[in-house]
Amino acid sequence: YLPTIYGITPTYARLAQKADLTRLSQTLMLVKNFHWIVIEDSEKKTKLVENFLKESTLKYTHLNVKTNSSKHSTVMDINICLFKTDTFNTSWYCASGVEQRNLALDWLRKHLKQSEDKRGVVYFMDDDNTYSLKVFDEMRKINKVGVWPVGIVGGMRVEMPLVKDGKVSGYNAVWKPFRPFPIDMAGFAINATLFLEHPNAMFSRKVQSGFQESEILKYFTKTEDLEPLAENCTKVLVWHTRTQKPSIISPSKLKHPIPPDSH
Ligand code: UDP
Ligand code: MN
Repeated sequence: YLPTIYGITPTYARLAQKADLTRLSQTLMLVKNFHWIVIEDSEKKTKLVENFLKESTLKYTHLNVKTNSSKHSTVMDINICLFKTDTFNTSWYCASGVEQRNLALDWLRKHLKQSEDKRGVVYFMDDDNTYSLKVFDEMRKINKVGVWPVGIVGGMRVEMPLVKDGKVSGYNAVWKPFRPFPIDMAGFAINATLFLEHPNAMFSRKVQSGFQESEILKYFTKTEDLEPLAENCTKVLVWHTRTQKPSIISPSKLKHPIPPDSH
């Protein structure tokens, strides 16, 4: 038996979007029983993503919801958004993907309720990370919540749970180590059935930056109950790579204009 992996990926329009989605989708094509939930951060679904998904051979669900900046309503969030400057680590940015991931969870709950097979694994996958195929084999072993190291994140070569006698005893994180779960989004996956058992579990804008992972995990587990995978959290199978924002010459300066839909 191979549980379905539901990969939840928020995405937004930018120059490298199709490149990032291409790289990710071609990894996903090699994963068995995978269902990709792609949520565009936009008012309408774009033709680019729609055609991209149609042309892929993947099993997918295409959703959209625009991040509403006026919803960044708490004083704390407003302060955090003001930190959006290059002098600060990018992790200070306003949390992205909150509304998109929550919409995917709504969809997933409806889908599982209608499905005979309510089993599965939920994995939150950013569109510019790098995933080894081995991480998908690992997450299919999960009972409740599984964890593993994440490469190149939080100012470290690798951020990882510390394992003692087969149990998670702490974390090596140095960025906001006081987070209840100092783990990146790419470093855990959750048994899908738990989302039916905990219908209120979702992400929130009411928490400070870097606390989204802790926000969702608090509904399901405690540090001592986490299941360490990837050989007791000794192997790096996923990297928080970030695609550099390309700078291009203004289209109006080109001698040979590029047709708008040749992306
Ligand atoms: N994202 C989004 N809207 C935005 C910014 C980001 O939907 O305005 C998505 C993005 O495509 C990615 C996820 O949210 O799948 C995390 O964003 P990003 O990779 O920029 O975060 P970081 O690498 O800085 O943690
Ligand atoms: Mn990213």
